[in-house]
Amino acid sequence: MPKSETIPIPGATRSSGGGPSRRQARRHKEGHHTNGDASPSSRLRQHWTRTRVLLLNATFEPLTALPLRRAIVMLVCGKAEVVHGHPSGMVLHSASATVPLPSVIRLNNYVRVPYRAKVPLTRAALMHRDGYRCAYCGGRAETIDHIVPKSRGGKHSWLNCVASCARCNHRKADRLLSELGWSLRVEPVAPRGPHWRLLAEVEHAAPEWRLYLGSVA
Ligand SMILES: [Zn+2]
Repeated sequence: MPKSETIPIPGATRSSGGGPSRRQARRHKEGHHTNGDASPSSRLRQHWTRTRVLLLNATFEPLTALPLRRAIVMLVCGKAEVVHGHPSGMVLHSASATVPLPSVIRLNNYVRVPYRAKVPLTRAALMHRDGYRCAYCGGRAETIDHIVPKSRGGKHSWLNCVASCARCNHRKADRLLSELGWSLRVEPVAPRGPHWRLLAEVEHAAPEWRLYLGSVA
């Protein structure tokens, strides 16, 4: 049975137009002056502040990861619907609506997203591309290595960067693969597509998001 609780999310229902947020506003005030307190309600609030919700286009294409509060506003305003509830199974109650706490939501109307051919090279996206595996030994990677070292003119680009374990990175230092007799397990490529835009921003995707992120997450 899913738990049914009221979660104090400041402003969650503010733009619903029906004014049901009085009770929540008052709830928000409680503990307002207890700066840095570690009461259960304050810890709970911090937890929900960090929680992200995956936003899908009407076509189920992933768009971005939203703060929970913004996702709830979209649900209450009727701009989106819940695709996957939060694993906690919690439900939000306001005077006029009952909304399951979401983990994945979908826009009711399709939005056209400007196509960005280049995916930004971030640590999160690079680790996803290489599956957290070292490009040289296949071990668990925790660093980024420039195949042609920067000190020798190598660029910070998708084609010149690979995930690497600390040991290989250290052993390779500022040498070229030809000087070491090393080879790459996989030839690096620049990723393309909407999933990557999202993965460049999110280091850890919730398990229930994977369905919508393709095989890369
Ligand atoms: Zn390695």
